[in-house]
Amino acid sequence: MQKMYPNFVWEVETNKKEIFLTFDDGPVPEVTEFVLEELKKYDAKATFFCVGENLKKYPDVAKQVVIEGHAIGNHTFNHLKGWRTNNHTYHQNVLKCEEQLKEFHQDKLLFRPPYGRIKRAQAKALSNYKIVMWNRLSWDFGKNLNHKKAIHYLTDASPGSIFVFHDNKKSFKNMSVLLPVVLKYYKERDFEFKALSV
Ligand SMILES: [Zn+2]
Repeated sequence: MQKMYPNFVWEVETNKKEIFLTFDDGPVPEVTEFVLEELKKYDAKATFFCVGENLKKYPDVAKQVVIEGHAIGNHTFNHLKGWRTNNHTYHQNVLKCEEQLKEFHQDKLLFRPPYGRIKRAQAKALSNYKIVMWNRLSWDFGKNLNHKKAIHYLTDASPGSIFVFHDNKKSFKNMSVLLPVVLKYYKERDFEFKALSV
């Protein structure tokens, strides 16, 4: 799988104690703002994979993300599912989000496919992007998430791990519980939280 997709990254190779938190689907007022407040408490930087239409709706929230030193990446304009979308439409939708990102002087070409679903041809068309997957999914969108199990899983990551949370309304209930625990756990163990770079 990893060899088939050379511009994909699942974790960061590092020998430092660092963790890469990512947040998908924002910016969303209150939810993204909650995340920013939590990150600030731990002097943590992160990467936000934004949906273009949310960037357009909530530019002030997006601006705040950038001002506070986080990276923002592309998550398509309309949160498209790659496997259900033809390649041309998909590519155009990524470019439309890219246009929005330019408003925030974001020139890092980081992309995360919604649902983690992308066809090989679609990924190939984004060869100028680093396509960021993950190795620690928080499952914060789960309806009946067992927090104890989720925390056990999330506090068992090795350096260079890429975590996925969601700063959307649906995931807030779980994310707002899990994120503070994760931040505290790794901070107490001298980890640093870093934004992804290309
Ligand atoms: Zn998403």
